[in-house]
Amino acid sequence: MPYLSHPDTLAALLPGEPPYRVRQLRDWLYRTPVLDPSEMTNLPGPVRRRLEPLWPFTIEAEQADDRGRTVKWLMRAPDGASFESVLMAYAERTTLCLSSQAGCAMGCTFCATGQYGFERHLAAGEMVAQAAYAAARLRQGPLPGGPDRLGNVVFMGMGEPLANYDHLREALRRLVEEMGISGRAITVSTVGVVPGMRRLAEEPWPLTLALSLHAADDDLRNRLVPINHRYPIDHLISAARRYVESKGRRLTLEWALIAGVNDTPEQARGLAAIAAELGAHCNVIPLNPTPLTRLRAPTRAAVAAFVDQARRAGANVTLRDTRGRGIDAACGQLHTRHAATA
Ligand code: SAH
Ligand code: SF4
Repeated sequence: MPYLSHPDTLAALLPGEPPYRVRQLRDWLYRTPVLDPSEMTNLPGPVRRRLEPLWPFTIEAEQADDRGRTVKWLMRAPDGASFESVLMAYAERTTLCLSSQAGCAMGCTFCATGQYGFERHLAAGEMVAQAAYAAARLRQGPLPGGPDRLGNVVFMGMGEPLANYDHLREALRRLVEEMGISGRAITVSTVGVVPGMRRLAEEPWPLTLALSLHAADDDLRNRLVPINHRYPIDHLISAARRYVESKGRRLTLEWALIAGVNDTPEQARGLAAIAAELGAHCNVIPLNPTPLTRLRAPTRAAVAAFVDQARRAGANVTLRDTRGRGIDAACGQLHTRHAATA
């Protein structure tokens, strides 16, 4: 499973082969990924066979939605851990939402992954292989209406990326330096793991940071996002400010809008105030209800009222679409009925 090897140690997989063969393999893995070693046309047959199995997971299920413009894969590692990726085609870009952990230990009350619990960290190679797999699939043919190149990568699948920092860092390095994806096209979404935010601010890549805020005061945020007890809002704001200063990149604040919980005018004004303090952009996404809670999405009118209120208070707000709703593939809800009942 060559994606599990560090790119600098690929020679160990090809004993006795000259260095140019190792470079060819590196290109097949990262520059022009293919689905099967048999497509690595410039490598001799015995070398290709030594690369089996290519992927560090099997595709256990594939589901499509939005007339083929959204595809979700359920991946299973040889040890049984499962995680998911969602590929979404838009007119100007194709975006992959990938997982950083199998499950998540953070226990956010509205999140299907949080309800499922923590299985294990993903290795750097398992994260990068999700992106390489998507790129290889796209090379076979684009999703309807989207480009055939993988444009954006967002760490908004299962797991809390900043709770798996060292593996995340190596995955980011490979996405940028091996696969050639621009740091600007990569978004790391965090529930607010402050030490990770501070470390990420010191990394060399101009990544976009998304902070999942969901509440504008600690009382409410403690209830929705238990890790807020450890890293309360004023700590988040100072770590986020440090990130923005160090990168010169605009921060995104994520807000899953929950009926009767965080959709009040006070919360909208609170969001606008924090956004103003950080010069941040706000993404509001109506809750995707999950089976284990009674939490509900607000009505369309309530969503519109919240967005309007936040805008009137000066916030720059995008109402996010809920891609893949029919297949539970909205980012942050990457747990299939499949995995949930397994
Ligand atoms: N752990 C990271 C990244 C994965 S979750 C984080 O929390 O940021 C990605 C995004 O999906 C987060 O903004 C998360 O709050 C959101 N999300 C989780 N469950 C959701 C749900 N049921 N409906 C809408 N958004 C949800
Ligand atoms: Fe984990 Fe993010 Fe879900 Fe919270 S919202 S439980 S941090 S995946």
